[in-house]
Amino acid sequence: GASIVVFVRAAALGDEFILLLADDRTEVTRTEAVRNDFVANVSHELKTPVGAISLLSEAIDDAADDEEAVRRFAKRLFIEAKRLSALVQDIIELSRLQGTNVVIKGQRVSIDAVISEAIDRNTMSAEAKSITIRAGRPLGAYVHADAEQITMGLRNLIDNAIRYSPAGTTVGVGARLVDGVVTVSVTDQGPGISPEDQERIFERFYRVDAARSRQTGGTGLGLSIVKHVFTNHGGDVTVWSHEGQGSTFTVRLPQMDESAVADENEREMP
Ligand code: ADP
Repeated sequence: GASIVVFVRAAALGDEFILLLADDRTEVTRTEAVRNDFVANVSHELKTPVGAISLLSEAIDDAADDEEAVRRFAKRLFIEAKRLSALVQDIIELSRLQGTNVVIKGQRVSIDAVISEAIDRNTMSAEAKSITIRAGRPLGAYVHADAEQITMGLRNLIDNAIRYSPAGTTVGVGARLVDGVVTVSVTDQGPGISPEDQERIFERFYRVDAARSRQTGGTGLGLSIVKHVFTNHGGDVTVWSHEGQGSTFTVRLPQMDESAVADENEREMP
């Protein structure tokens, strides 16, 4: 097709162009395969809550005279609808993040402000399980980032720490600065993750225990979203864990170069 024609014309321009185009074509094929895979997984995942919602609404209709049964089914219907809504939200978020032309709307962002906000968004679920969130000392460092995205990324990690930990435990959130790299760690006293699972948990829809994930309102996309957020920002996310000894998830972001900011300010002065 069209791509072959372009390929032949470019051949006249030299080896470098041939290589570039050949690479480009494999990249397109790969992206397409990944996309098809994603669509297949999404369809499968959507079937569970959609099927449940349709069955439950039928059951409510059938049980019209039994007030207690209607109430019970309605409660389950609400849970399934919430699950579906969370799933759709995460699917939209992830497809946005893994698009080919992702542009980061970067601003100078205080990492301490991001951590506070991410903790604030989890206080209700922590309180519901009597889990204490302990924040480390403020770091006073800045990163160049989309504040809303990295807050959501950290919020997801804290949310997981709370969901997978037993009641009454502590979740720690601490920031450090090492060689111009800002790191934020989320540590829990949960069940931990085996080495084999650690290699796969960042994949879409991968869950160590599917029943547990669903039960706690998980979509199986949280860590995949986290990974995309931080790699899009030129950073990464890693996990340290031993079974029975809890887990620590660490994200890294390049520190914003304050001297560059200072230079610019000086130049702007009259
Ligand atoms: P989910 O919605 O299932 O939580 P995630 O992508 O956030 O999906 O996580 C993938 C899987 O990794 C989870 O199903 C769970 O098995 C495991 N996991 C994530 N965070 C933790 C944690 N803090 N402690 C133990 N297991 C975890």
